Amino acid sequence: MPDRPLLAFLWTLLLLTSSAHSWAAELTLEQAQRVFPSAETVTPLNGKAPAYSVRSARKNLGYAFTTNELAPISAYSGKPINTVVALGEDGLIKAVEILHHEEPILVLGLSDADMKAFIDQFVGKKTTDRIRVGAHGREGYIGIDGISGATITTMVLTSSVNKSVHRVAQAYGIPRSSTPAMPGMSDAPTLILAEEIPAWQFMWENRAVELIVVSLALLLLLAILFFQDWLVEHTVLFHRLRVGYLLFTVFFIGYYCSAQLSVINLLAFFHSIGGGFSWDTLLMAPVVFLLWAFVAISIILWGRGVYCGWLCPFGAAQDLISKLANRLGFEGYRIPPRVHERLWAIKYFILIALVGLSLDSMVNAAKLAEVEPFKTVFILHFMREPIFAIYALGLLALSAVNSKFYCKYLCPLGAGLSFVTRFRIFDWLRRRNQCGKPCQSCAHQCQIAAIKPTGEIIDNECHYCLECQVTYWDQHRCPPLAEKRKKRENREKKARGVIASDS
Ligand code: SF4
Ligand code: SF4
Repeated sequence: MPDRPLLAFLWTLLLLTSSAHSWAAELTLEQAQRVFPSAETVTPLNGKAPAYSVRSARKNLGYAFTTNELAPISAYSGKPINTVVALGEDGLIKAVEILHHEEPILVLGLSDADMKAFIDQFVGKKTTDRIRVGAHGREGYIGIDGISGATITTMVLTSSVNKSVHRVAQAYGIPRSSTPAMPGMSDAPTLILAEEIPAWQFMWENRAVELIVVSLALLLLLAILFFQDWLVEHTVLFHRLRVGYLLFTVFFIGYYCSAQLSVINLLAFFHSIGGGFSWDTLLMAPVVFLLWAFVAISIILWGRGVYCGWLCPFGAAQDLISKLANRLGFEGYRIPPRVHERLWAIKYFILIALVGLSLDSMVNAAKLAEVEPFKTVFILHFMREPIFAIYALGLLALSAVNSKFYCKYLCPLGAGLSFVTRFRIFDWLRRRNQCGKPCQSCAHQCQIAAIKPTGEIIDNECHYCLECQVTYWDQHRCPPLAEKRKKRENREKKARGVIASDS
């Protein structure tokens, strides 16, 4: 990518991050009727927390309030999920309804029935309850069931509802005794709540084993990078290690942990900087957080290739399929260089379109982000509309014909990461003067076609698979080395001949 589009992209991100957001808006009668269907009037309470008294024609129905006014927390999309909550004077939650969200998993992925079943779990909970997803049996907490594949969304929604209920209950003394003061009056009883453990801390405790395993795997990857020159000289060991690592990435990181990073994470991060950045939200998916932290460091040191070549589950799955196809004797099809170079641009266009759409609405961005088959494969495990499953399977199958087709031409996450690659510090991929002049041996082996005909590696595109480094050190496959080896062998033969004739 030339520098001008890079500047345009960074400028757009700057605009995006600097845009001020205001989430809160007063509750309307229509919104109150979502949770109190017979509501006829909504009156703002005059107290410490923005809440509303709701009445029907004949009686007080209770209190209603929105989480955006009381406890807006950035969710997976980087924007809060706004819900309206109905609370009775008896201190019980009567209903919860989502008013607005931009969560990708709710746009396409989960059914309304899944979400309703989740939300209905709040009904009947008390103002003093500390509700937590997955906290079943934990002392002092009321556990509710989360939704597989929507961990952050459900945890943030629960935190928002819980915090809002606590704020309103404390401000207005709910549940109210038979002679309570009027709402907002100073003699309303004060609700004392014990100190809460942050929601993310639960997740880190629950995922401790996964975190330890992934941390060890990241340390191993660092060791591979530090000893890459030695490893690639031991071809059999290196290839076994690499295939083992890719299998781990697909099955443990991808399938077991569902920790596939997504371009939505990048967009959400920039949006949350502009409108309510929250470490709590970032920390709610511990393995994803750990991987992003590693990516942030490794991309500055070595470029995007370390993630794309080793840690991305979908990338690893494609790589393994292409290796298997090669093993079975299938050579695959290489797209002619001129077409290949133009196809590269598609992923950057997709990324730019995603950034543009997300400025308007993350919902539309989430729809376009379905170009990523990640959610289908690693979060929903193909259990969704057939069209998405066919698309994902098609891309995987395509990798047998053209290695990592999706990565090379379509992946907006890879495109996003490649922008930062140009600032990388280390350049540990070795080249010889003869590379490209005229030797094309490595270039032919690079499945990503990330080596120019002139011999230079295109850092933005390289997946750091180290295959060119295997060739670089191979005295049989690297032509300049093979030539040296032959000369050396001839000299040794001659020397042996002289010694033999002397004796
Ligand atoms: S290009 Fe996309 S799918 Fe491919 S390895 Fe990188 S992030 Fe994963
Ligand atoms: S073969 Fe070399 S240039 Fe090509 S992706 Fe692998 S490390 Fe990068």
